[in-house]
Amino acid sequence: MAGLSPSDTSCEIFMLVDRALANATFHPFWLDRRDAPSPEAPLIGRTEADLLIVGGGFTGLWAAIIAKESNPSQEIALIEAENIACGASGRPGAIVSTSVMHGLHNAVRVFPKDIAMLETLGQANIAGFLDTLDRHGIDCDAEWNGELTVAVGTANLPTLREEYELQQRHGHDVVLLGPEETRRELASPLFEGGLWAKKNSGTLHPAKLAWGLKRAALALGVRIYEHTPLRALTDDGDTVTAETRDGKVRARRVLLATNAFAAGHDHIKRRVAMVRDRILMTQPLTDEQMGRIGWRNRQGVYDTRTQLNYMRLTKDNRILFGGRLGYFYGSPRDPRLDRTPAPYGRLAEAFFRTFPQLDDVEFTHAWSGPIGLTTRMAVHFQTYHGGKVVYAGGYSGFGVSASRFGADIGLAKLTGSQRPELDCDFARTMPGTIPPEPFRYLGARITMYALDTAEAKGGWRNLWLKLVGKLGFPLS
Ligand SMILES: Cc1cc2nc3c(=O)[nH]c(=O)nc-3n(C[C@H](O)[C@H](O)[C@H](O)COP(=O)(O)OP(=O)(O)OC[C@H]3O[C@@H](n4cnc5c(N)ncnc54)[C@H](O)[C@@H]3O)c2cc1C
Repeated sequence: MAGLSPSDTSCEIFMLVDRALANATFHPFWLDRRDAPSPEAPLIGRTEADLLIVGGGFTGLWAAIIAKESNPSQEIALIEAENIACGASGRPGAIVSTSVMHGLHNAVRVFPKDIAMLETLGQANIAGFLDTLDRHGIDCDAEWNGELTVAVGTANLPTLREEYELQQRHGHDVVLLGPEETRRELASPLFEGGLWAKKNSGTLHPAKLAWGLKRAALALGVRIYEHTPLRALTDDGDTVTAETRDGKVRARRVLLATNAFAAGHDHIKRRVAMVRDRILMTQPLTDEQMGRIGWRNRQGVYDTRTQLNYMRLTKDNRILFGGRLGYFYGSPRDPRLDRTPAPYGRLAEAFFRTFPQLDDVEFTHAWSGPIGLTTRMAVHFQTYHGGKVVYAGGYSGFGVSASRFGADIGLAKLTGSQRPELDCDFARTMPGTIPPEPFRYLGARITMYALDTAEAKGGWRNLWLKLVGKLGFPLS
């Protein structure tokens, strides 16, 4: 293949993008499987439970398993508005990390006092994650080949070195790569350096994970009701009653695992904004096409662009390429709203500029998913109804493994456990509030425009991103 050259004009790129997207279906690749389990019946009528979990993504499923395994005699019900994994959990890039706080750098930014504890908890979380997969025989195509952060251009090389030194100080197994070494790992003319964190991180198939967790929870005796949206919660004193579309659950404790949907209490949205992030999936690459990019070590990859892109391989050698944020007024939950081709075209353009040698590759799937964004950029916990209801969520796009940690800490808060980590800032404090609509919409739109153009045009865009940074979001 001749491939694109850096001098290729926009017109040539647009034609390429149009051709590559022509046959793409707007549906998550992960959920497009014949072996998807059929949904559990909805709740019709009244029931009772010791613990009610609202939300059937990773957080809810992990919570169901952890709670049932720690006390098998308790009655646990899980209600899900639609299908298991219909939210973020069936839609991510699914690059898995040991960090439970969106990376070490972010953990140091938000919780400098808690670092030693967070590092220990991150390791324990991955150990518990692997142990559950093993005990319940969950096959989710996991590959533990590490995470590679690649510098696009030379401007971010100092940041990469700082991150390397930080990770080394905390005993992580990391390697700093020069431009040639980086391109030997993954061939792109854009990459000028890389940082490869080798241990306890990698990639997996998120829907297979969610469905495996569902199977495990059912086998343990958890009652799962799908197509059962929570409508309202009423405090009855010693218990809480959850009203659903066709029934009611009276429960002693409720865990709200509703992440970006922020459902369960009106106040959750004050600290959680739903943005959508978009992903493209290619057809399986041939051995010859794979030869053009290398990627023999198959790491999960993030780049350092202001509008970040992430990429990974699937088991059958497709490339998943993600990272194009969008915001919809009022955060509607229906993903069909995001089936307009234009934003995916911009993402495809970034793909071909990253891998110009793959100009004969087509995309089979394009989709978006909801990200629960907070100023903390990581999970937090909100408590309601005198401690009988806890919300755990807001992973800010980094929750495939951290959701197990979020479930665990959320349950510990709910049961009034004396575990020492509950005294740490990350468990006690809240992220900042985010302005309501219409300011949220306006702010999000300006921010996304600034993110897109900051690298090329700078000026007011950098100032705006710094201002948003002052609100707590580390974007610039
Ligand atoms: C495009 C994209 C890419 C991502 N990439 C990565 C990545 O590479 N690595 C990583 O670590 N993380 C990634 N993430 C983040 C990760 O997917 C999430 O943090 C994680 O899946 C959150 O799980 P959850 O269970 O908390 O939320 P969800 O999976 O969103 O589950 C919440 C559930 O609550 C249900 N619900 C909402 N309201 C109600 C109601 N009223 N009644 C009943 N149920 C309700 C929803 O239907 C939903 O199923 C990505 C996310 C997206 C969207």
